[in-house]
Amino acid sequence: MSHFEIKAYPEMWQSLDMDVERFDKARLMLGEAYEKTYLSQKNRPKSMAYFDNMIAELHGARIKELLEAKAEGRPVIGTFCVYIPEEIVLAAGGICVGLCGGSQGSVPDAEKILPRNICPMVKSAFGFKAGRICPYFQAVDFVYGETTCDAKKKTWEILDKMVPTYVMEIPQCKNPRDIVLWNEEVKDFKAKVEEVAGKSISESDLAAAIKIMNNKRQALQRLNGLRHHMPSPISGKDGLLIEQIAFYDEPVRFSQKVNELCDELVDRINQEVAVPAQNATRIMVAGTPMALPNWKIHNLVEGAGAVIVNEESCIGTRYFKDLIDESVSTMDEMLAALTDRYKEIDCSCFTPNDERISQVIKEYRDSGAQGIINYSLQFCHTYNIEEIRIREACEKEGIPYIFIESDYSLEDMGQLQTRIEAFLEQIGD
Ligand code: SF4
Ligand code: SF4
Repeated sequence: MSHFEIKAYPEMWQSLDMDVERFDKARLMLGEAYEKTYLSQKNRPKSMAYFDNMIAELHGARIKELLEAKAEGRPVIGTFCVYIPEEIVLAAGGICVGLCGGSQGSVPDAEKILPRNICPMVKSAFGFKAGRICPYFQAVDFVYGETTCDAKKKTWEILDKMVPTYVMEIPQCKNPRDIVLWNEEVKDFKAKVEEVAGKSISESDLAAAIKIMNNKRQALQRLNGLRHHMPSPISGKDGLLIEQIAFYDEPVRFSQKVNELCDELVDRINQEVAVPAQNATRIMVAGTPMALPNWKIHNLVEGAGAVIVNEESCIGTRYFKDLIDESVSTMDEMLAALTDRYKEIDCSCFTPNDERISQVIKEYRDSGAQGIINYSLQFCHTYNIEEIRIREACEKEGIPYIFIESDYSLEDMGQLQTRIEAFLEQIGD
């Protein structure tokens, strides 16, 4: 059997001023990990072939598309958070890519500069730039950070020395005066994108972009709904992979491919084809996002014979649960509609954040899960502290619950495996 490989584009990487030798080693390791984690799964839907190819071309075909866009004068913008309104970038003819880091490989690069005791997502993303080992980071015109958490907002000041970094102020409360500020920030973001694109965004540009993003979010909602079927027609690992690819693929093509996969999943449900065993324990994950290639929890849970059916996270439902009102037509109304939709995202950086507590319980019920794994990255204070309220709500509702705090290293794998297996056993009893 031929081995899966992430394809190499050394000349293109060289032209992006990357550390090609080092990056090539990382490419081989990622390819091996992908083969082991993904291609070893039995009975996968055929439509996963598109997403496998997206991984094979992770550092090639999509990067070429970004460079072609740049050559045409279209802006390519990196973001780190689902609060940045992608619609505005699309409306300017640009491309938005998520640059959150999910790999241990770039953490040591960051730790040469940043403190060690901060969230691995921030360290991994920063390390990709510091080590020149991410073609996406090398290809962007600029990045747009936000003020969601302390680790991120102070890192932007340091990152700015390596790549132009702008910051959107995301308030910490949702009072009327905060929403006024938020709306102003959305307008400033539009002005910055227009400046870089060298064109102004028309009302019809923005309306078209809103439609594209609503379609994409609806495709992801549809996939999520199908995962809730008992038994699930697709593994949680594959569900997570698609959610991760959503942050860098071209949105129209991506939505079409997700819908094609969903059509296949409907057929599977009709033919009673399931990936996990019929009686596999169904788990929902809540908490911090899992950026590519962070497959740690899904690997452990599904390796133990259970299936993950929902991610209440920015890689999951927080990214796609809300749509933008398409019924308005003036620029001001559309920007207000964007602000309105983005403020519905219930990240733990907000206070109070009661809506997230009820959202977790709602998603648990909707997904037909039998237990919740609340997952927080190490040193993420807001999710770690909000854990108390999620735990209390689960206790009150009698929901089997476990909290896992982890980073990207493999050191805690044995301990996590033991805890997860014990949790699954407890649900099975
Ligand atoms: S967890 Fe919060 S800060 Fe992180 S991507 Fe989500 S919304 Fe942004
Ligand atoms: S996981 Fe937490 S600490 Fe890490 S970037 Fe997101 S909000 Fe910040």
